[in-house]
Amino acid sequence: MSTKTDWITQELEGLKTQGLYNRIRTISSPQGAWLVVDGKKVLNFCSNNYLGLANHPKLVEAAKKAMDEMGVGPAAVRTIAGTMTLHLELEKRLAAFKGVKAAITFQSGFSANLATIPALVGKDDVIFSDRLNHASIIDGCRLSGGKIIPYEHCDVVSLVAVIKENLSQFRRAIIITDGVFSMDGDVAPLDKIYEVAKKYDVLLMVDDAHGEGVLGKGGRGIVDHFGLHGKVDVEVGTMSKAFGVVGGVVAGTPVIVEWLRLRGRPFLFSSAVTVPDAAACIAALDILESSTELVDRLWDNTRYFKAEMKKFGFDTGLSTTPITPVMLGEAPLAQQFSRELFEAGVFAMALGYPTVPQGKARIRVMISAAHAKGDLDKGLEAFAKVGKKLGVI
Ligand SMILES: *Cc1c(COP(=O)(O)O)cnc(C)c1O
Repeated sequence: MSTKTDWITQELEGLKTQGLYNRIRTISSPQGAWLVVDGKKVLNFCSNNYLGLANHPKLVEAAKKAMDEMGVGPAAVRTIAGTMTLHLELEKRLAAFKGVKAAITFQSGFSANLATIPALVGKDDVIFSDRLNHASIIDGCRLSGGKIIPYEHCDVVSLVAVIKENLSQFRRAIIITDGVFSMDGDVAPLDKIYEVAKKYDVLLMVDDAHGEGVLGKGGRGIVDHFGLHGKVDVEVGTMSKAFGVVGGVVAGTPVIVEWLRLRGRPFLFSSAVTVPDAAACIAALDILESSTELVDRLWDNTRYFKAEMKKFGFDTGLSTTPITPVMLGEAPLAQQFSRELFEAGVFAMALGYPTVPQGKARIRVMISAAHAKGDLDKGLEAFAKVGKKLGVI
């Protein structure tokens, strides 16, 4: 007998036969350099835990202390009865850390984009969007009802061309780009993009999810990296990557932040992060502001790992950040490589189409300050062994 959900069963079967069905592995240890994954202890080359803060004693302690004093949940959306002192303190601290006048937090980086883009863009407006922008930017753009015009990835010539061709037909315009692109680890040329935004007098928004806590002085992000303080209108960030917790942020001018408080729908219609989340994020800022040690170690580890991989003859693509793609070509090879690495005690995921273009399958290694040099050496050894066995190097 047929049912109303047969089509879903068929879709699922289709994904399985095409090798596109993602079986999610389960972690039963805290996040760190090593994990217990599906019951096996493996070296962690997968997480966005760039600074090792996800299980840092100071964050755990701050979360516990805050719960003792303030309980767990905010119990309402922020505009009605859910704004707690911790949320305001976190926003003040984030603004100071980023060197801007104001900041507003959201439940996640994803919801920060869903809140911000529709608040700034309407159906009479145009969005110039890097072709490889993150899914949450794309969804925010779609929700806004504005006209989305992609430009070629990190290509300022292409950006200028689409602006010249289209700008005059719309009421207002915005340029939106990822800061660090998560699949390739390359960095948007934000200095050049800023010059274009200035010349054509359009708003500029950067999503710095993978740059927060990574790029710039002590992890202050892409705007600091390029010395563009006060020049980028909207800086979106996340506390789920280098900060090791959860939550999104928009840093910018007081007028934009005020507008988002009144018109950002995920702010108005969804409750904020919990008490321990907010307290742990503040503790992460304490650590970042007290020393650059973790960020420095992240970059030392990154340079070491990349240099050794190149010596072996691996192609690590265009990355200039801790995101290290190991280019393998076809998806089945990348999947086999990942399985063999797991057998050898290394957890590194294969990424294939549609996450990355066809024929550009890869293993993505995420380097962290949590890795000791010995950990990186173990990982390198496994890569060399599997690379030779599979004829990659
Ligand atoms: C990871 C990521 C997000 C989503 O952040 P969450 O806080 O996990 O929701 C948004 N934008 C970019 C560019 C990202 O890489």
